Amino acid sequence: MARCHGTTLKGERCKRETQDGLDYCTIHEDQAPEGGRNPSGPGGWDTDTLLKTAVGFALVGAIVLFRIKR
Ligand SMILES: [Zn+2]
Repeated sequence: MARCHGTTLKGERCKRETQDGLDYCTIHEDQAPEGGRNPSGPGGWDTDTLLKTAVGFALVGAIVLFRIKR
């Protein structure tokens, strides 16, 4: 177990302990450096990629539906 590297809303060092192998507790894991904690590994799907893909599919679907109707 290690001490969390995160900072609380008061600007103080977080006193929570982290899970094994992690530098941040569950509350401050969003403060971790980019790529510091990625469960799916390098090149994995993150929320941003999934969102962009979903929007892309929705857009393509809308265009296809539009063409079929005409
Ligand atoms: Zn913390």
